[in-house]
Amino acid sequence: MSILLSGVTLPDGSRADLGIRDGVFVAPGDLTGATVIDGDGLRALPGLVDLHTHLREPGFEQSETVLTGSRAAAAGGFTAVHAMANTSPVQDTAGVVEQVASLGEQHGYVTVRPVGAVTIGLAGERLSEIGAMARSRAAVRVFSDDGKCVHDALLMRRALEYVKTFDGVVAQHAQEPRLTEGAQMNESALASELGLVGWPAVAEEAIIARDVLLAQGAGARLHVCHVSTAGSVDVVRWAKARGIAVTAEVTPHHLLLTEDEASGYDARFKVNPPLRRREDVEALRAALADGTIDIVATDHAPHPVESKEAAWAEASFGMVGLESALSIVQHTMVDTGLLDWAGVARVLSTAPAAIGRVTGYDAPLAVGAPAHVTLVDPAATRTFGVEHLRGRSVNSPYLGRELPGRVVATVHRGVPTVLDGELRDPDAVAAEGEAARG
Ligand SMILES: [Zn+2]
Repeated sequence: MSILLSGVTLPDGSRADLGIRDGVFVAPGDLTGATVIDGDGLRALPGLVDLHTHLREPGFEQSETVLTGSRAAAAGGFTAVHAMANTSPVQDTAGVVEQVASLGEQHGYVTVRPVGAVTIGLAGERLSEIGAMARSRAAVRVFSDDGKCVHDALLMRRALEYVKTFDGVVAQHAQEPRLTEGAQMNESALASELGLVGWPAVAEEAIIARDVLLAQGAGARLHVCHVSTAGSVDVVRWAKARGIAVTAEVTPHHLLLTEDEASGYDARFKVNPPLRRREDVEALRAALADGTIDIVATDHAPHPVESKEAAWAEASFGMVGLESALSIVQHTMVDTGLLDWAGVARVLSTAPAAIGRVTGYDAPLAVGAPAHVTLVDPAATRTFGVEHLRGRSVNSPYLGRELPGRVVATVHRGVPTVLDGELRDPDAVAAEGEAARG
């Protein structure tokens, strides 16, 4: 199959034709009989890569499956996702991570890179089979107990030392457990007023401070999940200035929403870590713009309707985010002048691919490189609704909001997964993906 993306605007603002054949970019002049996609007014980005996705399979298929989550990802412009380990069974053995990776491969919408659990069963007591997962066919490079914090300093230190041997990374969910017992929202005057247990900023910041020192001692790579406070930004900035190998992510929702959303007790806004103050949002945007925070990651966390329509204190933490991430980044970073499209390509594609050691993203959109590309119409606007959610769950905080930008096409390894803004048929995507792999 060959495709010509005609007259697209590249991240740097120049215009070009992009040719795709047999899964890789080729010189447009080498194509014959290609399907032509008119790129007038469309921005071409390297296929987006999410370092933090919950696909829920195995074990929680009523919320999401590898297939439905892959479709949500493709609809949002993603070509690769990292599937977090808090499944059932937990992704703490070579067998489970290989199963998740091969489901992703069969469906073909995106590359699914499983994240391995740091500790067995996410119990925080003994290290999991980290080496076996790294050597498995899934070749795991990112390890995380996400949803839980690796709070035992000795285990964290050993995990860092272990992953260093194969160039892996520990992605920490920074939440000091004792400081956040029963916590429901950001610790503030508003929390007291609402009668909800507060979640102090220091519960996040103290773990990050400890972990950057442990990473320095081990000479290992640390990644900090979903940074949410101005104080966390300060710690990461300090660590980077000292040459510590730390990277950090921010979620789209922490770039836009504040704790004020809790005042209506609408549990769609209940998330871990919690939404913070306006000053934190401003600090996170500035840190993403200046590179202190390396990437945007969705923390896509699907939940069934009943677990979000409960009273605030009983409701689950989390929001879906794959289908809206690019729009929120455009709204908060591009339309505000903080980041250009080359910056978007970096924070949503090449930098997360580099942290996760995902191959095929180091020469984005270049002839000979794997053809992962996302075409976005930045001038489009849409009132975000359930019809834009293509996974199994609808717990989005953006329903009813006017959002800029629309993904027009997504191409994964030369196979279109989204065309004319619509997801393609699963059988066609799976068959074309298999043919492209040979
Ligand atoms: Zn988390």
